Amino acid sequence: MKQTMGHLSGKITALFSMIFNTAKKQADHKKLTQHILLLNKKQSPVDIINEMALCLKDILSYRLFAFVMKKEDGADVWLDPRMYKKSLEEIILKDFGIKSKDGLNYLNHRFYDDEPEISFDMKDLLYYEISEEDSSFRLYMLAQKHFCSYHDEIVNLILQGASVALTRQLKMENLRDAAVIDSLTGCYNRREFENQLNRHISGAIRYRTKLSVFMFDLDHFKEINDTYGHPAGDKVLQEVTAIVKQNMRTGDILARYGGEEFIAVLPGADKIKAMELADRLRAKIEGKLILHGKDRIKVTASFGVAEMNRNADMGKIIQDADTMLYKAKLNGRNTVMPGIIKIVPDDGPGILSKNVN
Ligand code: GH3
Ligand code: MG
Ligand code: MG
Repeated sequence: MKQTMGHLSGKITALFSMIFNTAKKQADHKKLTQHILLLNKKQSPVDIINEMALCLKDILSYRLFAFVMKKEDGADVWLDPRMYKKSLEEIILKDFGIKSKDGLNYLNHRFYDDEPEISFDMKDLLYYEISEEDSSFRLYMLAQKHFCSYHDEIVNLILQGASVALTRQLKMENLRDAAVIDSLTGCYNRREFENQLNRHISGAIRYRTKLSVFMFDLDHFKEINDTYGHPAGDKVLQEVTAIVKQNMRTGDILARYGGEEFIAVLPGADKIKAMELADRLRAKIEGKLILHGKDRIKVTASFGVAEMNRNADMGKIIQDADTMLYKAKLNGRNTVMPGIIKIVPDDGPGILSKNVN
């Protein structure tokens, strides 16, 4: 009798577990369908990837999720959590044959040079790859639970849904870009810049986030044209904007404001972060040797930085950045205004930044 009871309870447990598994699978599939429906309504690649990450977190509770979109000269990377950056970066560079980590553009984090980096063991890392027309995507994942073929199926389904949505979105972006991009530098034109700045200001008000801009103008650029010729000047504009773009996140906007004057919007960045980025860019531009035929050209740029004020006035933030740019020119050029002074405290290695007008 005891044995029969034991046998029976084993059967009941198995039955319950089957019912539970089926119910769990049904619930998962319901969630999956909802997420796929939602990601098809998203308006940008980042929003689509966010939705895919939410879905996988919801169903699989991953420990790491990263999504890579291959680009001509590098890749866009979405990563969660950010602490896996260093370990994963090496894998991505190798997998995609990208020479330097400057070619990686992080979509959902802004990383800084002085950030501590931690390495992780990636031995259980899974990856999935999918190509649609001209686009190629790769998803990396460290799963939390025991990973089985059923989970594999979930990942494949969401990945297929996301890749269709992403390809459509990227195509639309390419069409739109043709009308709003400056053909020489690949930066947004001024009209589009104003549209985007307005949109980002509204977002910053709604989500109570910071927003900064910087403006920069090449120093003594007329002399470069006069000395090396107009085509060499064009090459300088292309190389300088390439440096700036490589060091900005996808959510940031870079526009050609006038001939050799550019403006950038940094959503989420406060003035100090914007000043730090501007100063890094200033140093990179100064350090770059631009080759044009037999000529070896050096150029510098002056930067003006401003943060959105309480009134969130578009005209005011541009005017503030312009005033600061003018100050930078007066201060001898090749500089950022407001400028940063770095203070190293006595009791630790941390660096506090302050701004000086
Ligand atoms: P500053 O340091 O005060 O900014 O001096 P600058 O010589 O850079 O400024 P200025 O305004 O006197 O000259 C800007 C030059 O930029 C003049 C113009 O011919 C040149 N320029 C504007 N657009 C282009 C372009 O698309 N290609 C080239 N090659 N030159 C351009
Ligand atoms: Mg100039
Ligand atoms: Mg100018």
